Amino acid sequence: MIIIQNQILKAVLSILLLAFYACQENTGLKDANSIQNDDSTIAKVSEKTKQPNTAAMIYSLPEIPVLCYHRIADGKKGDYTVSLAGFESHLQMLADSGYHSVSPQQLYDYLVFNTQLPAKPFLITFDDSRVEHFTIAAPMLESYGFRGSFFIMTITYNKKNYMTTQQIDSLDQKGHTIGLHSWDHTMVTKYVEEAQWLQQVAEPKKKLEGITGSKVDFWAYPNGVYNHESAEKLGTYFKLSFSLSTKRDSLVPLQCVRRIIVPECSPEALLKSMRRNFKQPTNV
Ligand SMILES: [Zn+2]
Repeated sequence: MIIIQNQILKAVLSILLLAFYACQENTGLKDANSIQNDDSTIAKVSEKTKQPNTAAMIYSLPEIPVLCYHRIADGKKGDYTVSLAGFESHLQMLADSGYHSVSPQQLYDYLVFNTQLPAKPFLITFDDSRVEHFTIAAPMLESYGFRGSFFIMTITYNKKNYMTTQQIDSLDQKGHTIGLHSWDHTMVTKYVEEAQWLQQVAEPKKKLEGITGSKVDFWAYPNGVYNHESAEKLGTYFKLSFSLSTKRDSLVPLQCVRRIIVPECSPEALLKSMRRNFKQPTNV
């Protein structure tokens, strides 16, 4: 009888012990979950208060292809002119190859905060405020779901063959980016007096912002020319400045984002040029 009672007692004790361990395990699981929750909360907080990348980090990031167009017209020759059919063939190739246009603001967020970009990102930019940027390029871009960046030299407002202020505002309304390309196309290396900085940069920037009601945070260098001093100074006005295919300044990488001038060429040649000029092994 006593033996049986002992056996029952042992069995009860075993069940109690099992229950105790199970309980401990459950508690452990619960703890793990709550730690996980804490981690994701921390991740969310650090996302918001993330430190911007240093110049060295920005310089080492893969470059996003940036295309630069000037004139889009038929019957003209030269590296600065692309025919209408040629331009459309470029857009068709980009769309067929799965490219997504991104804005300068998206590029800035990627460079400074490592914000994710869509697959196969590229930027398409237009210099010199030609009227066909509004009448031809923008509608074509929109039909492919792309958005462009238009760099305006403000001396051309409302002049023959150039965009009107109303057209510039309309581009901004349609989700394109309006940037500055100086007042009269004088190269930044020639701005010596503070008055020239005001005339070429500060005042036209303010005027453009007045036209669109949006901040003008992006600049394209006239003739693509810059030096270290001017790039540093432009950093006080703009989030990003766009150059051409010249070597980047590793100390101010945000103020010398490289672009390629797209000439009249086949879509295949453009794709090759994008791959050759912008090292981006994982995403192109
Ligand atoms: Zn220009």
